Amino acid sequence: MPNIRFTSNYTDLSSQRGYQFQFFCNKCGNGYMSTFQANKLGTAAAAANASASLLGGIFGRAAQSAQALQTMAAGPGHDAALDAAVKEISPLFKRCTRCGSWVCGPVSWNDKAGLCENCAPDLDEEIAAAQAGAARDQAVQKAREVDYLGQRNLAQAAPVLCPKCGAKTQGGKF
Ligand SMILES: [Zn+2]
Ligand SMILES: [Zn+2]
Repeated sequence: MPNIRFTSNYTDLSSQRGYQFQFFCNKCGNGYMSTFQANKLGTAAAAANASASLLGGIFGRAAQSAQALQTMAAGPGHDAALDAAVKEISPLFKRCTRCGSWVCGPVSWNDKAGLCENCAPDLDEEIAAAQAGAARDQAVQKAREVDYLGQRNLAQAAPVLCPKCGAKTQGGKF
């Protein structure tokens, strides 16, 4: 297992055709994809396998050796590709000197403060969230001030149904 400092969460999207990895931010969960690196040996092996299966048993041996080649290619080639992907993606991540955690730069880092957004929430985002919350509170408050009952007498007992016909009274006389 490689030592990836900036995240504990990554996905290996490699196939025999090539290598690609996605690294996830521990804070926001955003995924950052490395550039696809073609696996030339793997592609050759895949082509050999395909022609072998097309032509039946004739090239059975060729397919077997291609398989062996592919297995070899998956080892050190894969590790080198992962190293390259880690080098490519690591500049996107920053380590907060206050809490010590690694977070992604594009989403979870407060550039002005030089800290992660857990330690130094983005002021513009906080203001937008506060505005949305205040607007909601004000809507509730305004709605409370409206008289929805009109002339309805709340002191009087309000039977829900007319005792004669069983219709709903809606607060009216019957
Ligand atoms: Zn993030
Ligand atoms: Zn922090």
